[in-house]
Amino acid sequence: MAFSRGRIPGHTISVMERWDAIVVGAGPAGCAAACDLASAGRAVLLLDRAEFPRHKACAGGLTRKSLRALRYSVASVTRETISAIVVEKRRGEAATLASRTPVCALTVREELDDFCLRRTIEAGAQFARIGPIVAIDASGDGVAIETPERRHHARFLVGADGVHSRVRQLVHGDCPLWLRRGFALEAEVRTGDDGDGDLVFDLAGARQGYGWIFPKRDHVNVGLYTESAEERLDRPRLLAYIRQRFGDARVGRITGQFLGFGAENAPAAEGRTFLVGDAGGFADPLTGEGIYGAIASGQAAAAAIDGELCGSVAAHRTFARRTAQLRKDLLLSASGARWFYGNLDLGYRALTAPVFRGAVINAYANGTKIAGLANAIRRFARAFAASA
Ligand SMILES: Cc1cc2nc3c(=O)[nH]c(=O)nc-3n(C[C@H](O)[C@H](O)[C@H](O)COP(=O)(O)OP(=O)(O)OC[C@H]3O[C@@H](n4cnc5c(N)ncnc54)[C@H](O)[C@@H]3O)c2cc1C
Repeated sequence: MAFSRGRIPGHTISVMERWDAIVVGAGPAGCAAACDLASAGRAVLLLDRAEFPRHKACAGGLTRKSLRALRYSVASVTRETISAIVVEKRRGEAATLASRTPVCALTVREELDDFCLRRTIEAGAQFARIGPIVAIDASGDGVAIETPERRHHARFLVGADGVHSRVRQLVHGDCPLWLRRGFALEAEVRTGDDGDGDLVFDLAGARQGYGWIFPKRDHVNVGLYTESAEERLDRPRLLAYIRQRFGDARVGRITGQFLGFGAENAPAAEGRTFLVGDAGGFADPLTGEGIYGAIASGQAAAAAIDGELCGSVAAHRTFARRTAQLRKDLLLSASGARWFYGNLDLGYRALTAPVFRGAVINAYANGTKIAGLANAIRRFARAFAASA
């Protein structure tokens, strides 16, 4: 399906006493959940406060595992396909990790999310824009969600409304203890050439994180990421970083956002409400990648809801089982991140050791237990340090 521009109309919501599921948030997590539910024939209402296409601060990198998880091809909104990654420890000290097959597709989030929402509507989900959510009532055998315009009823509710989730706030309180936040900010940079250079992760860009350069055909996306609450990343700092790398290049809109971590520590889901994507803390603190966790957790919620509606296992049990591996990986990733960013010299040497390069890039692309790999690297680096 070709990418087509133009506003996605919020539909007049059909008269429905009670939906099978309401999904709040039409980003990758919400579209993944709503698409699977609609494809399974469920009555699903997808709500967002934004008019699409809408901007989202994001570098738009989709690793191989995200591409595999999606139910449809996103080739028509892919700007570049990447088979090699340059990891810089500092300017002048870098290693290239190459793969025989593409590891990552680079998209522009505005285009990607618009495309995914259109596919989700085609699958049968109803989409509507809403005003602020003022109340959620999750007592009883269903869920009611109230906006100034009306009250919607459903058997289940999926909170896919991003890192500052209103659903999470209303169901679990302001900031549950398990939730942690990272931060990243990014800009579109026009360099004069056509933006088809290397994909770079610069470990000197930010403490407990990195700087990145993602080529997007007609521009490069440049940003800074940290998983630490102490590292301050702001607009002047990103501008200085861009100047240092690209001189007087033209810099477009700069936007930043938090990322939601901590799903590994969240209590097992219960009841009829599920938090997915950044709302549920499914972003990966080691890499800053959140789209995969969003898709996988959204699909897990859909399978769980559909399962209970079919009369099998309670949805919250299926959700816990279906996200178990993901949460285990995030736990390892969190400890991998603490070690890696705390031991950058060793980490860099281990990450770029010729013996590891193929495994590292494939683990990044496939998610074949990237955190497990980080632990293997940690063991290798300790042995390496002991023998030095
Ligand atoms: C600068 C930056 C760069 C990043 N780069 C990458 C990358 O290259 N690759 C990657 O995998 N991850 C990246 N991430 C992480 C990734 O962007 C997120 O993890 C991902 O978008 C989470 O998806 P989501 O669907 O959970 O939430 P979101 O994408 O945030 O979508 C949430 C949706 O909910 C809607 N919403 C919010 N509140 C309400 C409300 N009250 N009512 C109704 N609707 C609401 C929003 O309008 C939005 O459409 C990056 C993050 C940042 C900040």
